Amino acid sequence: MIKINRNYLKLQGSYLFAEVARHVKEFQELNQDKRIIRLGIGDVTEPLSQNVIKGLNEGVAHMGKRETFQGYPPYEGFAFLREKIAEIDFKSKGINICADEIYVSTGAKEDTANFQELFDTSVKIAITDPVYPVYLDSNVMAGRTASFKNGRFDGVHYLNCNEENNFTPDLPTEKVDLIYLCFPNNPTGQVATKEYLKKWVDYAKANKALILFDAAYEAFVREKDIPKSIFEIEGAKEVAVEFRSLSKTAGFTGTRCAYTIIPKDLKIYDDDGKEHSLGSLWLRRQATKFNGVSYIIQKGAEQVFTKEGQEEVKKTIDYYLDNAKIITEGLTKLGIKYSGGKNSPYIWLKTPKKLSSWEFFHKLLNDCYVVGTPGVGFGSCGEGYFRLTAFGKKDDVIEAIDRLGKLKI
Ligand code: PLP
Repeated sequence: MIKINRNYLKLQGSYLFAEVARHVKEFQELNQDKRIIRLGIGDVTEPLSQNVIKGLNEGVAHMGKRETFQGYPPYEGFAFLREKIAEIDFKSKGINICADEIYVSTGAKEDTANFQELFDTSVKIAITDPVYPVYLDSNVMAGRTASFKNGRFDGVHYLNCNEENNFTPDLPTEKVDLIYLCFPNNPTGQVATKEYLKKWVDYAKANKALILFDAAYEAFVREKDIPKSIFEIEGAKEVAVEFRSLSKTAGFTGTRCAYTIIPKDLKIYDDDGKEHSLGSLWLRRQATKFNGVSYIIQKGAEQVFTKEGQEEVKKTIDYYLDNAKIITEGLTKLGIKYSGGKNSPYIWLKTPKKLSSWEFFHKLLNDCYVVGTPGVGFGSCGEGYFRLTAFGKKDDVIEAIDRLGKLKI
């Protein structure tokens, strides 16, 4: 008999966005004359830049000629791309990360989900609540969680993010081994200061723990004092891996290209306490389960790291940040509390009149024809919160906020 991996049976409910989509579809069928504005899903709306298109076209042309044709790409990515990433994202900003510490992939979702495979099932994980669901579900699938009770898995250390701690969780109250942090955060839009991240680095050092730092939204950080990379923090190269992506930075959600930084010094331990290189282990994993990112895509990605490409990225992110400002100014006028929207495309608002996340979702959909994401879908601490995103057309954002102003609660 072919038996199921019983860990998959522990996965909770239907996927949040599928449920949102179902409600929106039902509403639209009953109200065909209403124009719905979607500020829910975290997908970009601006097209790829002209320089990226130029790079992609170059890649296509190379594939059509015997002299420049490429077969399987290197598992860790082409040197031409890794060198540019190291220079533009790190060295030019005074951070000592080299090309051979960068591993190119098709997405930060894949990498953040797959990385846990390198660790024993007994390691204790710490995950924020609310959280980007991939970190948790990948650990559930791997058998690192026990039973599900009252909205939470036994065996997981949850780090509560709430108004009291300004959505930046406190250090764990027990010893943990694998810590997932994401700043700027999805869904709360919150950012971390250097002092705050230093506490985590010190904790990880003291406990021989590892931080998995998701920096998928680093391009949105505009304030000088807010770190874009955990490697801006002293000592982080000994205890942290960083995930980056071109999805939100350069519109690659559908094109797929990301990269993970694993410092050379980073070690993990076997039962005898013997050290192993984490980078070598990841490459071993990738070489078995992954055949690299297409040459054409990497040629497109390379253009993001040229001077012109960087200017284009800035322009697109400025556009989304302007949308975020329209949303936050509108919320302020309405007296609705929120976090994020400043160095982030996400706005995490507190539902008015203590409505539940889903009550507010339905009210917004039925009365304003605007779609957002119920905060409770990201974890129990998200109850009473609601996520809006700045991805979308400016005119739609203006109209959505205008409609919100007329909402009667
Ligand atoms: N990490 C976070 C925190 C995200 O919000 C997302 C996408 O929404 C991803 C990773 C996925 O990035 P990618 O498109 O590179 O897989």
